[in-house]
Amino acid sequence: VIEIRDLHKSYGTLEVLKGVDIAAPAGHVVSLIGSSGSGKSTLLRCANLLEDSQQGEVIFCGEPVAWRGSGLGRHPADRAQVTRIRTNLSMVFQQFNLWSHMTVLRNVMEAPVTVLGRDPKEVEERARHYLDRVGIGDKADAWPAQLSGGQQQRAAIARALCMEPKALLFDEPTSALDPELEQEVVRVIKSLADEGRTMVLVTHDMKMANDCSDHVVFLHQGRIEEQGPPGQVFGNPQTARLRQFLSAGE
Ligand code: ATP
Ligand code: MG
Repeated sequence: VIEIRDLHKSYGTLEVLKGVDIAAPAGHVVSLIGSSGSGKSTLLRCANLLEDSQQGEVIFCGEPVAWRGSGLGRHPADRAQVTRIRTNLSMVFQQFNLWSHMTVLRNVMEAPVTVLGRDPKEVEERARHYLDRVGIGDKADAWPAQLSGGQQQRAAIARALCMEPKALLFDEPTSALDPELEQEVVRVIKSLADEGRTMVLVTHDMKMANDCSDHVVFLHQGRIEEQGPPGQVFGNPQTARLRQFLSAGE
């Protein structure tokens, strides 16, 4: 679904991604792990074109992003393509970013109705379905502030699902949560993995990465240092850096 080839990204003189390749084929879950500052969030943001990059390819469902210009002056050339890619790669962030002035149901319905122009009746039905799916069907009419952190994050996941995207991108979806609330979100993510959704998952939670992924990528200072199936990455790490990262218990 989403593929990145030889991606380079700098902020001014700071080179954050130094030639990264990743691929999340349909039905696969790819986890990105690595120290703080290694470029994980940047890679996700480049994948859905929230950030420009300077070199390399971003390919969505076999369709390479068309660029205009080069290097620091490079931008996507085709607005319609950007919209198509962004609406098909739904992001879930560490801070759930629910709109506080809208009910939970309205939060979930908002983008399909206003961005995609779908019929509100049909979207409402779908929104209720996904709220049930993440276990908070009874919270549809509540305000975000009335929900626990875990419930807010599950509402954010329902909101991402309601776009019916081709893939979900998670950026540390459990890091802002207390351990007991974390588990209810992990369970939802695991169930999405089990039903064959395509996902890219940035996480500090090595157990979740191990349990949910088909493939794990370890980023170090903007490069892929090591990657493989979770059993290998966690059970038999090949590089000293990955061994050190895993034993630091980050
Ligand atoms: P963490 O685990 O802490 O979330 P990360 O792996 O997600 O880290 P990124 O957020 O991708 O790391 O950041 C990679 C590097 O890029 C860091 O050195 C960061 O300071 C820098 N950076 C990120 N966003 C910007 C920005 N908008 N402007 C300038 N530098 C940035
Ligand atoms: Mg990050």
